[in-house]
Amino acid sequence: MKIALVIPVYNEQESLPRLISLLANLCQKSGYEFQWIFVNDGSTDSSTEILLKSAISDNRIRIIQFTRNFGHQAAVTAGLDYACADAVIVMDADLQDPPELIWEMINKFQEGFDIVSPQRLSRIGESRFKLWTASAFYRLMTTLVDQRMQPQVSDFRLYGKVAVYGMRQFREHHRFLRGMAAWLGLKEAVIPFHRAPRLAGKTKYNTRKMLKFAWTAISSFSVLPLKCATVLGVFVILLGVTYFGYAFYMQFGTAGDVPGWTFLACLQIILSGLTLLSLGVMGDYIGRIYEESKGRPLYLIRNLVNLEPVDLPRSIVLNEHNLPQDLLGYGIHRSEACSNG
Ligand code: UDP
Ligand code: MG
Repeated sequence: MKIALVIPVYNEQESLPRLISLLANLCQKSGYEFQWIFVNDGSTDSSTEILLKSAISDNRIRIIQFTRNFGHQAAVTAGLDYACADAVIVMDADLQDPPELIWEMINKFQEGFDIVSPQRLSRIGESRFKLWTASAFYRLMTTLVDQRMQPQVSDFRLYGKVAVYGMRQFREHHRFLRGMAAWLGLKEAVIPFHRAPRLAGKTKYNTRKMLKFAWTAISSFSVLPLKCATVLGVFVILLGVTYFGYAFYMQFGTAGDVPGWTFLACLQIILSGLTLLSLGVMGDYIGRIYEESKGRPLYLIRNLVNLEPVDLPRSIVLNEHNLPQDLLGYGIHRSEACSNG
């Protein structure tokens, strides 16, 4: 049986040597045929050199080299696009996802599950703020957005080949892979584990990136924020009508005056705020439609090591060997183009 490990890498020079030697030991006498697909997501440290050097001596190491940093979700997508195996396991490069858990995952896959998702029972070494926001995020996602999503399951996951094929059908730009995996509706097993701290280096998900990711997750799987604007609008209208009734009663039903401008000023500010907020939410969705309509690639690959280009929509290899002859000759005589090539 063939197993592919997909490992997104962004500036992980401290962790990579340890990870590679650990994987080499782990996969030595397993009886499975392994390939490790490292997706180098535009690293600017020496990760690239470490990977290239390792790939020369070990042909299980495959490298997808992006032209720049396209983000973790794009890197995992490329790995899933290029993996050619019965099962694909996605894991972090920083050893926060324990490699020894892969045997349990493979066993579950062999029992007939299409997806195996390790679930974090604890997350050692992460800040209180990260734990709190992560827990709020999962609660929101599972209750409001998609109930099929498992809480505390990250992108560390095994996809059987049916699931991989399913995942390859999602070609949208704003990606939330955990939601997509749940959306497939395939048979999923959950296995608990304790998440270790990072081996070295810092998390690449700072607060800004985390919030952006959370918003992508919500907006790519739900139109709930748009509906919220409607509900809020109805609520405010009801409030207005109630107050109008009260003012009417005060003016004509009693001898009193309608108390005035402070309330109106507050109302004006609140309503302007709500209107701008709703416009902002709508604008964000429209922006996403705009971005999708451009149909840009999900990632651009500069180099492939021990891998062949695949033919999938929005997946482009941008190097000299992969340019079609016809395109190279664009604008000049065809025979000239061929003789040049
Ligand atoms: N990563 C990536 N591109 C990015 C950010 C992160 O490929 O733009 C990789 C990173 O090298 C690591 C994995 O994605 O292997 C998860 O990132 P990180 O460990 O920083 O996230 P955390 O575990 O803190 O949520
Ligand atoms: Mg990590």
